[in-house]
Amino acid sequence: MIGRRYKSETERMLGTAIMTETSDDVRATGACLCGAVRYQVRGPLREIIACHCSQCRRMSGHHVAATATARENLEITGRDSLTWFRASPDAQRGFCAKCGSTLFWEADARDYTAIYAGSLDAGSGLTLAAHIFVADKGDYYELTDGLPQFEGYSQNMQVPKT
Ligand SMILES: [Zn+2]
Ligand SMILES: [Zn+2]
Repeated sequence: MIGRRYKSETERMLGTAIMTETSDDVRATGACLCGAVRYQVRGPLREIIACHCSQCRRMSGHHVAATATARENLEITGRDSLTWFRASPDAQRGFCAKCGSTLFWEADARDYTAIYAGSLDAGSGLTLAAHIFVADKGDYYELTDGLPQFEGYSQNMQVPKT
């Protein structure tokens, strides 16, 4: 906002009010099972995508379902309890060290954080949209919901900007 000019005092006040409202507009909230780690999202969220890769299955106990948001829009509290594990050289997975809840996934080369949908508080308004890495899915369940399935990554994983 440096250098921004207002034509009048009224417009300046309106501008301030609008900016304040935008910065306080919490899109979604969530937490781990014990509540030590909490988060707020101020910005758009991607629809939920289920990942059936072997890493997600081992870490979650079944498969992962995750939304995602631009990293700058995610505010995490309780970072002392948040622990990161690198299952691969270019990505890390965040979980609560106290209760074990799986919460986040971040790739070094991507500017968003995936948020595991089970940690969301009610009212996110999101829906499951697709399955990825179905080639690696467990052999004890079938995918019968009719949603799109991808062998590996899907371009649908892009996080909306607005
Ligand atoms: Zn916890
Ligand atoms: Zn996965």
